[in-house]
Amino acid sequence: MSSSASAAAPGGAHDAPPSSATNRTAPVEREACAAVRAEEPGPGARGGAARPAAAARRGGASPAGAARRAAAGRARGDGAPRALPRTLLHVDIDAFFAAIEQQRNPHLRGRPVIVGAGVIASCSYEARRFGLRAGMPLSEARRLCPEAVILDGHAQVYRCFAEAIFERCRRVAPAIETYLDEAYCDLTGTERLHGDLIAAVGALKDDVRAATGLTVTCGIGPNRMLAKLIGKTVKPDGLARIEARDADAFLVDRPIEQLAGVGHAYARTLRSMNLRTVGELRALSAEVLERLFGANGRLLYERCRGRDTAPVLEREIPLTISRETSFHRDTADRVEMEGMLEYLVGRACRASRELGIAPRTVAVHLRYADGESVDQARSLRLPSHTDPVVLELALALLGKLFTRRVALHGLGVTLSGFERAAGDQGSLFDEREAGRRAALYRAFDGVREAYGHGVLKSGRALHLQGRLEEDRHGFVLRTPSLTK
Ligand SMILES: [Mg+2]
Repeated sequence: MSSSASAAAPGGAHDAPPSSATNRTAPVEREACAAVRAEEPGPGARGGAARPAAAARRGGASPAGAARRAAAGRARGDGAPRALPRTLLHVDIDAFFAAIEQQRNPHLRGRPVIVGAGVIASCSYEARRFGLRAGMPLSEARRLCPEAVILDGHAQVYRCFAEAIFERCRRVAPAIETYLDEAYCDLTGTERLHGDLIAAVGALKDDVRAATGLTVTCGIGPNRMLAKLIGKTVKPDGLARIEARDADAFLVDRPIEQLAGVGHAYARTLRSMNLRTVGELRALSAEVLERLFGANGRLLYERCRGRDTAPVLEREIPLTISRETSFHRDTADRVEMEGMLEYLVGRACRASRELGIAPRTVAVHLRYADGESVDQARSLRLPSHTDPVVLELALALLGKLFTRRVALHGLGVTLSGFERAAGDQGSLFDEREAGRRAALYRAFDGVREAYGHGVLKSGRALHLQGRLEEDRHGFVLRTPSLTK
């Protein structure tokens, strides 16, 4: 289990609302989960209509079709929902940040590598042999492993890798829920499409490795919890499947800490009651667990019996896509500011094109060297994810906002108010021109997909050349933050 996952979703991905990961998003619940949920009391499922269109947009029409057929099958039968056995795939990127750093710098391969500031965010498997783990203070890590290489990290690069991997997951699963370095994929109803699931997931792993050089560990199970747990037993670069009938035997002797939702505090309480394994936890009634841990107690009661009905929540339309950075040196140079803004706008627009969405609102925020921050947002006439359209507005905002005679420390752009992009959205009066521009940017995206974002630079962003370090993923920004 990687550090970054726990950082992204404290308390376990099951309960945590989607936190940082790619974006905060408006969840769309899958129809395929509705039948399972229908067994539970509470409000019915929703949002079925949005999903097939989304899957078709991503080119995932086939798995989506299978899921639709499965959902339709469940809906038949006198209105009594028949729950199809669920099949969940958990994909976890191995030693995520550290693995990317080792790939970027061959000198780091085979060496203990830590990414983090203050505490370990991620560490390589070589570092883990010294007892290092995510969340450990760097001071302790240095003591345990003085030869470890400690890096600040390159969040924006990690995001690019994660998005490339998740895009490949979407090709095999009609619904996926992503976190910083892990994804839950609902494969329910796709068995006939994929045939041998193990082979299909094996092919996904090969695809990920070929495209990114990274390894992922995959677990397949009848629910999220079991899929993740079985994956943990074969890390790194593993692939394992657990069937529902084997869940009991698999769970009974596992330490309680491995159960989703059992953190240090819960484990201490349970161990003080002489409960050490998942099987032993079953001795406690639902009422007792609820008294001990509130609503989480009820979940633990179910989970220690191998039950987890949490659905996969697609998080398709983000609330915002942000790209921001600090300058390597505070600057009052207009050319540098505008160059950086153009670069950030280009990255944010590309991210929204990849998701097939177009923002209506553009915000620019500035951080001055003396700590003061200003920001302002404005809407486009029509939603657009085409760089020049967004940039025009962003530059106007920068012009309005940068009024003080103080150097800038940081700069960022945030896109929001997304709508699904149907073709391109230029002005109504220059549709043909807008279409041409959209085709051009799609071609750019194709080239960047193949050769890295850094191979194409345009306009003002060219002024950054020579001022900033670069790699295949683009300029190496100083403190790129994750998308908010
Ligand atoms: Mg991981």
